[in-house]
Amino acid sequence: MSLTQAVKDEARRLGFHLVGVTIPDPPPHFGVFQEWLAGDRHGEMAYLATPRSLERREDPRRILPECRSILVLGIRYPSPNARLEEPLAEALQNTEPGGSEQALATGRVAAYAWGEDYHEALPERLQALVAFVERQVGRAVPNRWYTDSGPILERDLAQRAGLGWIGKNTCLINPTQGSCFLLAEVLLGIELEPDPPFLSDHCGNCTRCLEACPTGCILTNRTLDARRCISYLTIELKGTIPTELRLKTGDWIFGCDVCQGVCPWNLRFALLEGDPAFAPRRGVPRPRLADETRLDANTFNLKFKHSPLKRAKRRGYLRNVAVALGNVLAGRPASSPASAALARLLLEDPEALVRSHAAWALGQSRDAEALRYLCQAEGREKDAGVLTEIRAARRQIEAALP
Ligand code: SF4
Ligand code: SF4
Repeated sequence: MSLTQAVKDEARRLGFHLVGVTIPDPPPHFGVFQEWLAGDRHGEMAYLATPRSLERREDPRRILPECRSILVLGIRYPSPNARLEEPLAEALQNTEPGGSEQALATGRVAAYAWGEDYHEALPERLQALVAFVERQVGRAVPNRWYTDSGPILERDLAQRAGLGWIGKNTCLINPTQGSCFLLAEVLLGIELEPDPPFLSDHCGNCTRCLEACPTGCILTNRTLDARRCISYLTIELKGTIPTELRLKTGDWIFGCDVCQGVCPWNLRFALLEGDPAFAPRRGVPRPRLADETRLDANTFNLKFKHSPLKRAKRRGYLRNVAVALGNVLAGRPASSPASAALARLLLEDPEALVRSHAAWALGQSRDAEALRYLCQAEGREKDAGVLTEIRAARRQIEAALP
């Protein structure tokens, strides 16, 4: 058996569902990436645009001068279209009798984040793969590996390694397994036989993802305006979510799966199992929003230890939960559990970021109970930004009340 085949077999044995090899030449869409940066579509992700990051993304040999081949790997996580009866049942089982619809309201978490943090789950397997390569060749091999964490245009390399095409929703789509993959790359200082690039485009005339995206942020050149993408807004953005986008985030509290969920390639392969490491953890896929407002620093860290959700940090996560609760309240009469949960955040949360989004959220209910909470908070709030949100929310409710 050739070395390339032996390495691919070992990668599959370690749990990777997609395995391909490409050469370390500059990625074909680097120019598109530069244009994307020039249009400021990366928002606050300044690390993408540093000179060091750019020169490495432009040429993988700048990362590892000895690089002669790149292994590109994909590992499946559960499809967002997978059946979720069990976690949903778990989420609802503790509901008190007579609990209102709003008390039961759940948020949504992107499917890749239902289980273990891939930054923690994958390194051991990548190290094992490098050790295997070294055993096969009988010497140390220069190497560098990444799991979504490196300055590398991974979808471009995956396409060139034959793993799939880059869809209109910007994801790498494999024709037999869909797009619910986490990608990883291993740069190696040995030559492996490269796979032929994946050259066909199976999106055809389909535009489902573009039509379904809640914020309309998918661009026609297979990039997206991250500044309006819910994944960016709920994970990468550290500050205030722009007011005009809050209603569009719906019940998403960490990431968004809409453009993958509607993709026919994921509907077709919805029943494929993901790696066990990424199986849904109890209470993560559809957490009850009112319960999440009670997370303090300790309980947040405990709940999301080894989970990708810790990336949002408590303040970002509670900001997202507040916005989702506002969207639950929007246009409805307020119910005590949901507005009481928001009032608690507004009156007691130590983070101004959380209080300001809780004020906005209460303003969505347009009802007298929410107005009382806002007036109470206005009398004691010291932060100018939060006060601005409280007053805007007050005006909104006052204008709507008879
Ligand atoms: Fe749009 Fe959501 Fe896809 Fe972002 S993740 S492009 S917001 S559908
Ligand atoms: Fe392509 Fe349609 Fe999937 Fe969008 S939804 S990525 S257009 S196949």
